[in-house]
Order: sequence, then structure tokens, then C-alpha cells
Amino acid sequence: MRSNPSDYELIAPSSLHAIVSLLAKEPGVWVPIAGGTDVMVQYAAGKLPARKLVSIWNLPELRRIEVTTSEIRVGAGCTYTDLRRHEVVGREFSLLRSAACWTGGVANQNRGTIGGNIVNASPAADSLPALLVYDAELILVSVRGERRLPYISFHTGYKKTLLATDELVQSVCMPRRFWGYFSHARKVGARNAQAISKVCIAALGRIADGVVEDVHIAMGSVAPVPLRLMETERTVRGKAIDSDLLLLARKAAVAEIRPIDDIRSTARYRAAVAGNLVVEFLNRLNSERADSEGEGVRPVLARWNRLPIDKAMQTILPCCGSKAWAQRMVARRPLTDEAALLAASNETWRNLTRSDWMESFHSHPRIGESRTSFLEPQSPSAQSVEWSAQEQRNVGDAEAAVKIALAHANREYERRFNRIFIVCATGKSAPEILEILRRRLENDEETELHEAAEQQRQITQIRLRKWFQG
Ligand SMILES: Cc1cc2nc3c(=O)[nH]c(=O)nc-3n(C[C@H](O)[C@H](O)[C@H](O)COP(=O)(O)OP(=O)(O)OC[C@H]3O[C@@H](n4cnc5c(N)ncnc54)[C@H](O)[C@@H]3O)c2cc1C
Repeated sequence: MRSNPSDYELIAPSSLHAIVSLLAKEPGVWVPIAGGTDVMVQYAAGKLPARKLVSIWNLPELRRIEVTTSEIRVGAGCTYTDLRRHEVVGREFSLLRSAACWTGGVANQNRGTIGGNIVNASPAADSLPALLVYDAELILVSVRGERRLPYISFHTGYKKTLLATDELVQSVCMPRRFWGYFSHARKVGARNAQAISKVCIAALGRIADGVVEDVHIAMGSVAPVPLRLMETERTVRGKAIDSDLLLLARKAAVAEIRPIDDIRSTARYRAAVAGNLVVEFLNRLNSERADSEGEGVRPVLARWNRLPIDKAMQTILPCCGSKAWAQRMVARRPLTDEAALLAASNETWRNLTRSDWMESFHSHPRIGESRTSFLEPQSPSAQSVEWSAQEQRNVGDAEAAVKIALAHANREYERRFNRIFIVCATGKSAPEILEILRRRLENDEETELHEAAEQQRQITQIRLRKWFQG
């Protein structure tokens, strides 16, 4: 039966708050419409039960992509085009990017949203297996506030979800810990784009010491909901990939899925293809160099790119001494070469606050001494102490008179500027350093702060190079 437009009402409040208030006032009466690429198909087919539509298209609150050190938060109103264009999505969540690239054609990608794909809840939807393997969580919002739940629990049955009638999906959050995993996506259908999949797979894995250290596998069109293949993952985790394991993995996958016959395919065909896709993924994981090894990425950087956030911060902190610097450097991972590392450090350093700079200054010993600054005693790492000793090697060999003069000048500097004197000492003799110190005592406070910051920038660059060279 054809739909009559006059039977429908469409409103477009301008804020998220106004929309959730409306949903709360008349729960189940108003249906949100985002890009409309599913809703309008239902409308055209005369299968849209709701008569009242509230537009959430292009709401700023839903169209943001936020990147923190630990996760990426994609607004539910982001389109596939937004996802395709986002640098961090492309670099760290390539499975989501691939799904965005083959969801319909360009027009559909400009309108269709990730939130619409989630709530439409088709078991054949392309982006949903990717969300499963990235351990996504959803933030749902209503007048009652926000709640966060694991995406894997969201679909409770065919086209059924945990979304309450007064709620919207606000965003999808994914942890930033999969860089360095080998990732694999395949859509089996009439075509990649402009066709609904018969079976699709998104999978991630990492091999260490010859065994599957970690693996995440999800599939679409093989069950009433997009399915994470937990049993199959358990079967292969901790084992070396050989022909016996491939056989076991195929069996586990076929036992785990619940495919059906429909107009696009048969259950038998889907089961055979699902088994093949799991085997194909494991074969590629085994034979291809994992992304983590990163073509041309030095092992020290490749390893650091993969470390958990705390460990990565701890590792790089001695190069600078400022925790804010270390945190921001970690947030910029993956860094792929020395030039990128050094450029990231320079940019990060320049954008720190004065108190971050101070923290860095006070992680050094005084020139000519081996302990840290007197102002904010802290215990520098063994690495930082060792580097300081190398940097100040020439001062240790200086004549006694120069050392005494340096100690006097240091004290004068500290009285005047209330902080330790910072100089990039590498390659400089003690008399040279003394001359620099005396000259800088003439500086006004602002000039001297920037001079010290520049010296610290140089020290950090030298330490980063040493660390990078291993
Ligand atoms: C030509 C064409 C090709 C397509 N190709 C593919 C494909 O290859 N792969 C694929 O997976 N899909 C495909 N689709 C389906 C569709 O484009 C996607 O599912 C899309 O992501 C839906 O997003 P939307 O914003 O258009 O959703 P809408 O149609 O606006 O909404 C869909 C449903 O989600 C609800 N909703 C939307 N956003 C929210 C929110 N933030 N909170 C709560 N509820 C919400 C709506 O109420 C509605 O029930 C195709 C569609 C068309 C028309």
C-alpha cells in the first residue's frame, strides 16, 4: 500500500535536549529519523508504522568524533562519509572504514549514519561486525541521563534492542588499543557496495611467539543479530595456526552461527562460506606480516605503539619529564618513523602549559650535580639519570675553579628565577656552559622562560633519538 505524505508529521527541533524531552513526553509516538536511508525505504514500501517523525539529522551534539588518549567516541549522527574522512578512524579502525566504504553508494554514504545502522539492527548491516570486534560501547541518552553499555549486549533478537522508547543512541565508543593488530574484512554478496551481504566478516588478530595471542571475530548475516564468534575465538587463542587448528576453527564457527534461508541465500551456503571466511582470515593472519610489525617501523617504535597507555607513558617520560607531554605523545600513536616522532614532540612541547614546562625542568639535576632539582624533589627514572650523566659528561671533567663558579652561578640563577637552570649540555664544555649561564642571568623572566623551554626542547629531541636508536 502506498504511503500518503499528508498522513505523516515531521518536526526538527534544534537541540538534543528538545528531542529527548519530546521522546520522554510521548514515549513510542515519535520515531527519530537521522539520514532516513532506512526509514524512507520503509515509508516508500508502506511499512512505516509511525506517523510522527522527529529529525535528528545533523544535530551538532550527535555529529562529533572525539579522540582521547584511550578511546574514540563517534557521534551516532556521523555519516559514512564522516567516518571515511576521519584520520584516526582510517588509521586505527580500518575495519570500520572499510565497512563505511562499501555501505551503499556515495549518496547513501553522505546520508546514512552509524547510529541508524545500529538501531535499524539488520543482521546483515555492514558496520556492526566491526563494532563488535573493536569491543565498542554505546552511550544512550534520554532525559533520565546517559547510560553506557557494551555494544555486544545491545541486540537482543532479530531487530530487537535494549534501546528504550525515550532514548537515542548518542555515541559509539571504541578503545584505542588495536593498532598493530592484523585486520581483515570481507563482504560476500552480489557486489561489495550497493548489495546486501550474504555473509560478512570483520576480524582482528595478533600473533606473538608463534601463537595466536589475541583474536576477535564477528560476522553478519549468519544469525538473527550481528554475531561475535566467541567459541571460535576461544578455539584458536593461544595456539599455533596449522591445518589441525584451521579444521577446528571451521567446525567451531559453523557450530556457533545460526544462518537462515532467505531470498539472498541458503543456510547451507552461508555455513560453508562462514567456515571459509574464518579459515581465510586465519591463513592471512598466519602468513601476512601483521600491521603491528609495520613495514619500515623500527622495532622500538612498533613495540611502543602497541603498549598499554600507562606503560607507553612510563617508557617515554624520561625523554622529557613532563607527564602532560608523555600523555599527549601516547595519544598521537601510532608514530611510524623518527621524523614523525620528533615532529610530534616539538608540536606537543610548544603547546604545553608553563606548569608542564616546570615539571619537565625539575626532572633534571643541576648542572654539575647528579640529583634532581632542589625545588620539587622527585625521583627521576634510572634512564633519566643515566642520560643526564651522559649529557653533562664534560662538566665532570672540568677544573675545580670552573665547577665552583658554576655552583655559584647556579645558585644565583635559582634565586633570580626560582627554578633550576636548563641548558642543552650535550657537546658543550663546562666553561661554555658557565658563559651561557652568566649571559642568561641578564634575561628578563619571560625571555628566560622561553630560552629554557627551547633548551628543554633540544634535550628532548636528543633523548628521543637515543631511545629510538635503541
Ligand atoms: C540504496 C541503499 C543502500 C544501502 N546499502 C547498505 C549497505 O551496503 N550496508 C548496510 O549496512 N546498510 C545499507 N543501507 C542501509 C542504511 O543506509 C544504513 O542502515 C544506514 O546506516 C541507516 O542510517 P540512517 O541515518 O539513514 O538511518 P534512518 O533511516 O534515519 O534510521 C534508521 C533507524 O534508526 C533509528 N535511529 C537512527 N539514528 C538513531 C539514534 N541516534 N538513536 C536512536 N535511534 C536512531 C531510526 O528511528 C530508525 O528506526 C542501504 C540503504 C539504501 C537506501
